[in-house]
Amino acid sequence: MQRSVEILEVGPRDGLQNEPGVVPTATKVDFIQRAVAAGIRRLEVASFVNPKRVPQMADAEDVLKALPRREGVHYVGLVLNRKGFDRAAAAGCTEIGMAVVASDTFNQRNQGVSTRESIDAWLDIAAAAHAAGIRAQVTVSAAFGCPFEGEIAPERVVEVAVACAQGQPHEVAIADTIGVGVPSQVTDLVARLKAALPGMPLRGHFHNTRNTGLANAYAAVEAGVGVLDASIGGIGGCPFAPAATGNIPTEDLVYMLRRMGVETGVDLERLIATARWLQDQLGRNVPGLLVKAGSFPAQPAVAA
Ligand code: MG
Repeated sequence: MQRSVEILEVGPRDGLQNEPGVVPTATKVDFIQRAVAAGIRRLEVASFVNPKRVPQMADAEDVLKALPRREGVHYVGLVLNRKGFDRAAAAGCTEIGMAVVASDTFNQRNQGVSTRESIDAWLDIAAAAHAAGIRAQVTVSAAFGCPFEGEIAPERVVEVAVACAQGQPHEVAIADTIGVGVPSQVTDLVARLKAALPGMPLRGHFHNTRNTGLANAYAAVEAGVGVLDASIGGIGGCPFAPAATGNIPTEDLVYMLRRMGVETGVDLERLIATARWLQDQLGRNVPGLLVKAGSFPAQPAVAA
């Protein structure tokens, strides 16, 4: 088992994007700074997409403008095309993430183009990012199943990942976008990716939609995945299961890893305090469990 795992906090983007009401810019900035204070060093803070389609992210530039630049902290902007990349670069993102969906139908619905066209857009973006000194990574979405096409063959995921790897990404991620994957699939897919892309750093993005998110994260770590996406409080839904639980909760994940002896560099008590703060901001309970149960062994509560 690896001794350390890096956390990419996706709550401020993937998490908040599913909130029904528009969250004030100042609250988003506060959220991000609390996560940084807890020790998170990579955060997906905004998406640079059409604000008419995603009103929650219309303030992407304002969020970036308000964030203090800190050595070693990467503010990640999600982009889906070149226009989005140009906005993220101008806003000062030090890292961008691009999503390419393994299924053509889902890619077409989400991004308005085919998977192949998104791969080509990614290769163009990756070259521009390298030239600008911006870190660039790519996620293969719906890698464990598609709401339109059903099962996705692992060979297809590997084919898309290999095509994307030509852009020399910082890492390749596999995302269980609709939360249907199980641990044996993770083990199998990671083995296939390692064989096809030796030396390529891998990241996992799992959802608790069907309560398999944390088990999938465990399988990923055991298989050698070095980076995991998670959201504080477990906020964020699945766009095709409106009532479903979202991303794996960062504090639940950090609890598991810490007790296993896997270091994340994140302060668990501060994470829990931040999840509780987030509940107050959203005016409802978040799906995470540590926020209710607390840590073990019991620790004195800290301010978020
Ligand atoms: Mg997600």
